[in-house]
Amino acid sequence: MNVDNEAVQVLVIDDELGIREGSERILQRMGYAVRTAARGDEGLRSLEAGGIAIVLLDLKMPGMDGMEVMRRIQQQDPQILVIVITGFATVETAIEAMKQGAYDFIPKPFEPDQLRIVVNRAREKILLQRETAKLERDRRRTLADLDMEKSRTRTIIESLPNGVLVTNTEGRVVLTNPAFCRQIGLDPGTCPGAFFRDYIADEGLARLVHDISRGKYVDFEDIPSYEFALAEDKYLIAKGRPVLGERMECLGAVVTLEDITAMKVLDRLKTEFVAKVSHELRSPLSTIHEQLAMVLKEIAQEEREKIDPHLLSRAKEKTQGLISTIGDLLDLSRIETGSVCEEPREFRLEELLASIVDFLRAQATARRQTITLRLPAEPLPTFTADPLALESIFGNLITNAINYTQEGGSIEVLVAPAGDNVRVDVKDNGFGIDPKYLGKIFERFYRVKNDRTRLITGTGLGLPIVKGLVDSLRGSIAVESEPNKGSTFSVLLPLKR
Ligand code: ADP
Repeated sequence: MNVDNEAVQVLVIDDELGIREGSERILQRMGYAVRTAARGDEGLRSLEAGGIAIVLLDLKMPGMDGMEVMRRIQQQDPQILVIVITGFATVETAIEAMKQGAYDFIPKPFEPDQLRIVVNRAREKILLQRETAKLERDRRRTLADLDMEKSRTRTIIESLPNGVLVTNTEGRVVLTNPAFCRQIGLDPGTCPGAFFRDYIADEGLARLVHDISRGKYVDFEDIPSYEFALAEDKYLIAKGRPVLGERMECLGAVVTLEDITAMKVLDRLKTEFVAKVSHELRSPLSTIHEQLAMVLKEIAQEEREKIDPHLLSRAKEKTQGLISTIGDLLDLSRIETGSVCEEPREFRLEELLASIVDFLRAQATARRQTITLRLPAEPLPTFTADPLALESIFGNLITNAINYTQEGGSIEVLVAPAGDNVRVDVKDNGFGIDPKYLGKIFERFYRVKNDRTRLITGTGLGLPIVKGLVDSLRGSIAVESEPNKGSTFSVLLPLKR
């Protein structure tokens, strides 16, 4: 039995019992489900029950005329194929029926094979029709799904609280969301198409987005985030990633913008608070420190024996520690508010470094350490900056080298030109730093705690100050270190600013 035939039901409408029964038998053997009717009106009623795909229709029947039956069938369901059964005498009628939309005709009397051929042909047509309809349905569904997927993604992008912008490889903007337009004060209806820098006039950010769009970054971890101010008191942070195609080729960049104004304001308030508190603490502490020094000096020998001899000295040491912590906090606040390096002067870097090294040599000698300054053969061009900033940078780095190097160790300060920059390496053969802490030592208050550093006093503010000052001079600082071998802090400073 043909499985497809099962799904195709045939209705035979003929007043001749022999034709009805004969056709039914033949078609059932072919696997068709067959219904029969002796009259036109009976056939139409059977059709109403549904499921019929092919009608074999005698044109000459008592009661309702075959042509009329055909018209009504077509009205009911134009997909039904009507094959008219005609006697030789009514060939014209058959032709007329074909003109009216009959699918085929079969002359009476017919051989079983004739019936098979005609019905099978109709069946082929029906299956084809069904297949086409199914394909069309599938196509519509896929399109509808795609449309839905697209509009869903679009809706999500449009509802995001953060700004989103997408560029192509040329760096032209191809998509923005309303939050982006709101953040940068654009009319939400602004069409994409222009270059990134036409939307946000920040050279550094435009360059970063251009580089990402061009696929410059292979490792996404290397892509820096970018903070910028749009207006007075409006700060944003931009983060970009490349958009990759199926073969991992770069198709452009997607950039998100987040408003960090509140965070910035909070940060500034915190800096101001620290500055204020430190400032308020500094003068009373300094007074206490000086008074302790005076008391220690003036106290009579016999009196000294009555009190614990270390008590006052320890109190004096502690106040000194607090005074330098407060000094560090004030330095940090000044760096953060940008009010450092305000008095640039022209000076010779070699001379400044020589005086710092000379000043700290006493500390190194006390620990039986050697300290060497190596200057380039050719003198460097003069340097223009706030000398206090450079004293703080190299004073901190060399003091650290002395503190975190064992007795008898050696410290070197190497100065060398490097293109438009000068490079100063502060190198020691001391304790070194475990690689897992290297990323942290520039954070405020961070101190590496181990058996060797435990007894060394410090605040964890030295390196953040150094980093802040180097940044404000538009330089950079890097560190290389190996535990028990030593560390090298390298500072690169531009000669021309
Ligand atoms: P502090 O020296 O007051 O602790 P810093 O910010 O100057 O604070 O340094 C942070 C930490 O980095 C130190 O506690 C120390 O563990 C480590 N460190 C800094 N310089 C060196 C160095 N030259 N060798 C080894 N460790 C160092």
